[in-house]
Amino acid sequence: MTCDDQTCYRALVARDVRFDGLFFVGVTTTGIYCRPVCTARTPGRDRCRFFANAALAERNGFRPCLRCRPELAPGHAPIDAVANLARHAAARIEAGALNDGGIEQLAAEMHVSSRQLRRAVTQEFGVSPVELAQTNRLLLAKRLLVESNLPLIDVAHASGFASVRRFNALFRQHYGLVPSRVRSARRSATGGEHLKLTLTYRPPLAWPELLRFLAGRATAGIEAVVGDSYLRTVAVGDARGWLRVEPVPGKHALFVELATSLAPVLPRVLSRLRHVFDLSARPDVIDSHLAADKRLAEFVERAPGLRVPGAFCGFELGVRAILGQQVSVAAATTLAGRLAQKFGDPVETPFPQLTRVTPTPSRLAAAPLSEMTRLGILQSRAECIRELARAMAGGMIALEPGAAPEPVIERLLAIRGIGDWTASYMALRALRWPDAFPAGDLGLIRAVGAKSPAALREMAETWRPWRAYAAMHFWNSSVVPARSDHANERVLSAVAQSDRKPAPRLRRRRADGPVHVRPQRGTGAGTNMASR
Ligand SMILES: [Zn+2]
Repeated sequence: MTCDDQTCYRALVARDVRFDGLFFVGVTTTGIYCRPVCTARTPGRDRCRFFANAALAERNGFRPCLRCRPELAPGHAPIDAVANLARHAAARIEAGALNDGGIEQLAAEMHVSSRQLRRAVTQEFGVSPVELAQTNRLLLAKRLLVESNLPLIDVAHASGFASVRRFNALFRQHYGLVPSRVRSARRSATGGEHLKLTLTYRPPLAWPELLRFLAGRATAGIEAVVGDSYLRTVAVGDARGWLRVEPVPGKHALFVELATSLAPVLPRVLSRLRHVFDLSARPDVIDSHLAADKRLAEFVERAPGLRVPGAFCGFELGVRAILGQQVSVAAATTLAGRLAQKFGDPVETPFPQLTRVTPTPSRLAAAPLSEMTRLGILQSRAECIRELARAMAGGMIALEPGAAPEPVIERLLAIRGIGDWTASYMALRALRWPDAFPAGDLGLIRAVGAKSPAALREMAETWRPWRAYAAMHFWNSSVVPARSDHANERVLSAVAQSDRKPAPRLRRRRADGPVHVRPQRGTGAGTNMASR
């Protein structure tokens, strides 16, 4: 990935962990070089020199920072593999990997030995994987005591403790507090049999826009937007349930209500929700950078804190992206609903809208193509979905946040029927790569006023490293200038027609890439459903 000085400096100011290992910064006044995530004070732009790797920085006379330890940055060199491994292990541990299974199992899933895993985590974080897991458990337990109505025994289990006794002992030892005292110190629980928690974020948050985006793509039976709330069913591990999310008035937080059946997988569910609503973003930094472009300034002003919605389930999003090839958002939503009805297991919820959990990769990997085509899914798309399902069921592809995007995109592109647009869209929403950019998206090309994907890509250079956010702004905007001089006239006129309808703004948002300027490989060059 290329990273010019401006891009690097923006990432440095944001201390964006997603750019860790992609560049290093040498500070001319101190002669020290750092990772972009270094906690030292950010130097002024004129004191920074950027290097693609540590060796280059050293050749230019810079010494490694003792605080951020450039040697630990993830990247491509063999030594960096250790930090990369540690980072991914930490993400899985935070999502509860060591609560559900042991270190041996986690190591096996990550294709390393448990010894390698232990060593990598210790080297990167200075604590063992078990200690890391324990800190996560204690912090979650503390939150549950303060925020939820769960009885102590359930708090212990939901946080990942094997027993209440162990929970009590560790809590006292680490925080000097008795769990029951923490509970009684707060106002008495308001009752109710569901789990209730809050998730915080950095303001502003463009909630209505976020909700509208999700509403337009809500798969019937699995998701729904009702009033100001987002609802969905959940299937994580063996746990089945539902959740509801809405903003907390007057606070920079979202209120989350969950079925108590999800308590055993709570860390995983919460970590996924943070991705769905992009709660760890730095809107201050991202907005001010994007607003510097006059094409985006107006959009940023209208929707400050616009987020890039992530995927609750990578496979669900992947299937959805394939279904969205060359059809409207509404058509893709209809097909996804039929697929859920046919292949998703039924689930009990208090909401009439929520009836099914999302179909699993193994279910769709084994599904006869005829059962999918009968739902109105094109043969080529059904084959593509099955290929993706097989790759994911077999562990060849993981559509998880935090994974390095390049190798995943490479593997996705090897699947017949997945082209640049589909892979970029998956990277944008499922891998949560902030610089992902589907340059072949016709909605974007028209909104920006570019002549071709290549021209759009060039214009988008200045939006790095947050091109995904720029794309969201254009999709979100209702201002779509009409163009008629495009190469693919047939497609354009079809879209222009649908845009002329006095439809609500949602109709025009085409984040699922309804129409491609260039047909996807293997999907039949002449196929273009949008022109119907
Ligand atoms: Zn440093």
